This record gives sequence, C-alpha cells and structure tokens, in this order.
Amino acid sequence: MDITFHGAAGCVTGSCHLVSCAGRRILVDCGMFQGGRELYEENAGDFGFDPASIDVLLLTHAHLDHCGRIPLLVRRGFRGEIICTAATRDLVRLVLLDSAHLHEEEARRANRRRRGGAEVEPLYDTVDALDCLDRFGREAVYGETVALWEGVRASFHDAGHILGSASILLELEEAGRRRRVLFSGDIGPGNRPLLDGPQPPAPVDAVVMETTYGDRDHRPMDASVAEFHAAVRDADARGGNVIIPTFALERAQELLFFLREGAAQGALPPDLQVFLDSPMAISATQLFRRHPEAMKDEITRMIREGRDPFRPPGLHITRDASESMALNRVRSGAVIMAGSGMCTGGRVRHHLRHNLPHADCSVIFVGFAAEGTLARIIIDGARSVKLWGKQVPVRAHVHTIGGFSAHAGQAELLDWHARTGRADGGGGPEVTFLVHGEEAARRRFAEKLPGGRVELPRIHQRYAL
Ligand code: ZN
Repeated sequence: MDITFHGAAGCVTGSCHLVSCAGRRILVDCGMFQGGRELYEENAGDFGFDPASIDVLLLTHAHLDHCGRIPLLVRRGFRGEIICTAATRDLVRLVLLDSAHLHEEEARRANRRRRGGAEVEPLYDTVDALDCLDRFGREAVYGETVALWEGVRASFHDAGHILGSASILLELEEAGRRRRVLFSGDIGPGNRPLLDGPQPPAPVDAVVMETTYGDRDHRPMDASVAEFHAAVRDADARGGNVIIPTFALERAQELLFFLREGAAQGALPPDLQVFLDSPMAISATQLFRRHPEAMKDEITRMIREGRDPFRPPGLHITRDASESMALNRVRSGAVIMAGSGMCTGGRVRHHLRHNLPHADCSVIFVGFAAEGTLARIIIDGARSVKLWGKQVPVRAHVHTIGGFSAHAGQAELLDWHARTGRADGGGGPEVTFLVHGEEAARRRFAEKLPGGRVELPRIHQRYAL
C-alpha cells in the first residue's frame, strides 16, 4: 500500500495523487498546473505514471487545478471509471469543454504569430474533452460508501468549497492490513452563503490536506458583505457603473445572492440594473439551480418555493457578444459582472476599457489576483493600464474585498484537521501529508499542527501507507 504525489506538491495547482493497494491503482484528482508559462508547459509533460494502469479516478471537485488534465489522461490510455458527485460531474463537463475551447483558441493565436517551425497543437481539444465525459460512471452521494473492489471502498464528504466539492475517504485493505486515508480536496471556510461547512469523517490513519492559506486567516464574511454593498451603493449614488471581474464558478452565484439579499434588506437600491455578462457564469448558475441537494437547506427551500436565490431584482442575462458590446455604451447605473476574474482575458477587459477612465465608476475586485495579472496591476494602484496597445487612465474607484475566499484560512484548516482525529481523545491521524500550498504556507502550517508525523512531499515522491 503506497501513495505517490504527482502534483500540487510544493505548489498550489496540479492536484494528482496515486494510491496503490492490492494490485489496484486509484487516482485522486487529475488537475492542471496553472500560473506562469513554465508551470503551464508541465501540463503537456509526462504524468509520472502510465494512465492505462489506473483503475479508477476519484474527483474532489470541478476546479481546473483538480480536473483539468483528465482529457489528456484519457487520450493517453486511461480506460477506468471516473467517480464524483453529480454536481461535480455537471460542472466538470462545463469546465472541460470551456478549457478545451480556450486551448484551441490559444493554439490558433500561436499559429497566426508563427513564422516557420511546426504547427502548434492545442494541449487538448473539444473532442478530447467529449471523449473523457464517457468515462464518468457512478455518482457519489455525500456520506454514502462506494465499493470499488473487495476490501477497497471510497466515500465522499462535503468539503464546503464549491458546489459538489468533496473530501474523499479511502478505506483500504491489503494482506489483512487496513488503512483509512482521507483526501481533503479543497476545504471551504465554513461560512459560505450557499454551502454547508466541511464535514470531514473521523477517525482516519492518514490525511492528505490542502494548505493554500495555511499561513493566514481571512477577514470576517459579514464585514466583507457590508463592504461590498457599500461599494456598489456609493458608485450608484455617484451615477457611475460598477464593474465586477468575476470567477464563473461559485463566486458569480454568491455575488448574485449578495445582490439579491442587499436589495431585499434595503442595503442596495431596489432598482439596481445588474448584468451577468459571462456565458460560463450563466451556464454555471443554471447548474447550481439543478443541484439544490449540494447546497444549504435554506437555499434548497428557496429553490423549491420558486424563489430564485440567484436573481436580484433588475437582473439581465447577456449571453450574446452583441448584447455585451451594447453594454459598452451604457454610461451610468449598471452593475456589470464579467470574466475573467483576474482580467487576463474575456469580456471584462472591454468593460474596463470603457469604465476605468471615469471617476464616477467603480471596479470591485472580489477574488484572488495572481502576480502579473491585469487585476493585480489595477489593485496595486497603477495610474494607467495597457489594453489593446493603448494606455487607458485609471480614474475609477478601485475596491478590493478580501473576505470572500472559497478556501479555509489557517484557523479553519486546523479545526478541520482536529476533527479527523479520534473522538475519544486518542489523538489525530498518524501521518499528515501537506499539499496544495506554496512552500512557505505549508511549512508555517506544519509548525501549527499539534502532533503526529507531518510530511511535505515533493513532486513524484512515494510513501508507504
Ligand atoms: Zn478548488
């Protein structure tokens, strides 16, 4: 019985962990490396194992850094079953088709610029993405057990991170020896508006856990929602537009919910005109409505009673590019949510070009912005930014709301870990593997853990279980 870490070992992306037990091989997640050209190029490289040798792939959730390399896995020979929750499966379909499309576009652009040399191939294309959809098999339900083989079982437990997200418990048996190994997936902070908090099973022998924010805590949620409402209200009072660069999954639906609540509670004007200007976010929102079982009881109840949690008054859905372009002529009173979240591409760049130069407008950043992205450059206070070769002055108000993270902070991660121990006070897991965090964050987190063996695996490193 052993485990090998083929991604997210010393960085935040590319989650991919391989468990071998009694002659079978189980993969947990198959994520993309993201952030910077060098890391991106690793996606085309070798997995570190033969995809054809994998019997089953268990998926924690639908973020690209956990599922983005599945089309490559299938193209290179994986023929096993993919198991995840129903909500994850629906979101993965959307995410992988969108990802394939982006890879195709990127290859097309590279080929247009190319002078000689071989034609650039996309990392994978739409047909690859469609092929891997055939491999999805049984649906996992939170708290229920899926039998994999004689002596090997898996169960999925709410991780509270995004719709359908799960921590996965593997119950393994080899030559009469039993081990319970828990994969955290990404862990939510427990205060999300739409999702229940994480529910880790206990007790377990070994834990593989994420440490994205292993070194810090977030701002409280309530204060962040109030700050968000105030920023929207102020821009509306000035008569300007509000641009919100938005991640399509979870964040967009949360913002719609906060806008709806704000109007209902009188924190926002009731006649606010809200534009959801992102085809991906529009589709994701439809999938949220389809999976009330993966959300809080009160949200499920709202949907059942015909009250749409994702529909603030004055909501407009703009799927067509022509409708999106028409928004560029609106000079005041519009709240526009558009992707991409970090402003690296997508419709939001057009909205920024038209609104950044106006002092009565506001841009509200509600998510993580990586070094070097346009979002980060604006957040860091640039006086002007370059868009389509032209300098655009930044005169709009810029707000950064810090408390909307879908990841647990340090205190919440420690709490999650404590809950995986024995209820009788018999101690925590025997061994904890820390993954999915920058080196400094996971080292800092390792120092905080109360006891037991702690390992910080390097990429492709193997451990006996
Ligand atoms: Zn995630």
